[in-house]
Amino acid sequence: MKINFLNCFTCIARIPSTWHTGTLCLLVKTEQGLVLIDTGPGLEDYIHRPGILRLFQVITKVPLRSEETAVRQVIRLGYKPEDVQNVVLSHMHFDHCGGLPDFPWASVHVHQREYKAFLGWPWHLTQMAYVHRHIAHNPKVVSYTDRGETWLGLPAIQLPFQPEMWLVPLFGHTHGHCGVAIRTGNTWHFHVADAGPVALEDYAPRWLIRFVLGPHTDNLRVFAAAHPQLRITTGHMWLDFFDTNKAVSM
Ligand SMILES: [Zn+2]
Repeated sequence: MKINFLNCFTCIARIPSTWHTGTLCLLVKTEQGLVLIDTGPGLEDYIHRPGILRLFQVITKVPLRSEETAVRQVIRLGYKPEDVQNVVLSHMHFDHCGGLPDFPWASVHVHQREYKAFLGWPWHLTQMAYVHRHIAHNPKVVSYTDRGETWLGLPAIQLPFQPEMWLVPLFGHTHGHCGVAIRTGNTWHFHVADAGPVALEDYAPRWLIRFVLGPHTDNLRVFAAAHPQLRITTGHMWLDFFDTNKAVSM
C-alpha cells in the first residue's frame, strides 16, 4: 500500500505574498488498483480556462503548469492513466475535480449531496466554483448517502476499497463536502480537504475561515489532538509540504 502526495495546482497569493500553497491530491495504491482522491484542474482547463479560474488568477498568481495535472503526474510516476479506475472526490469545485475528463473511464465516488449541488441550480455562492463541463464526458458516478456507519466516532461511509477507506461528511465548504480517511497500517491518514485551513493553522481571521471553509476547524483540531497517531492533511497545503512529503508506504 502506498499513498503518493501530489501537488496538482500551485497558488501563490498576491496578499499576503507569503501564502504559497499546492492543492493536495492523493494517489492511493489499493487492491482495486489506483484510487485518486481529488484531481486538481485538468488538461483542458489549461487550454480553455474556466471563468472561475480566471477569477482565481485575479487574487492569486497561478503558475498554470500543465505538468501539475494529475494525469501527467500519474504518468511520471510510471503508471498508465488507465490504471486510475476510481476517483474519490472531497467536493466538486474546479480545483478538485477538473481532472475528471483526463480519466474518462474512471468511476467517480462522491457524496450524493455534493453531486446534487453540482447538478442543481447555483443558488449559493459556493456553487460558483463548479464547472459543468468537468462531467461532460458522462462518467460513471457512484454517489453515497449516510448508512449509519461511523469511523473513529464520526459519521462516515465506507468506500469499496482495500485498504479500508471512508468518506467522512464535513459539510459546509460546499453542500456535500467530505473528508477521506485511509487506513495506513495500524493508523490512518485523514484528508479533511477544504473543511479546514491550510494544515489546520491559524493564519487568517476565524470568521473568514468559517465563512469560506465551514464550521469544522475547531472540532477537527480537537479530533486531531484526541488521535495523535492520525496524520491529517488539508486540501491546500503549504508548498514545502510537497518537498518533504512525496509518499508514504506501508
Ligand atoms: Zn473548494
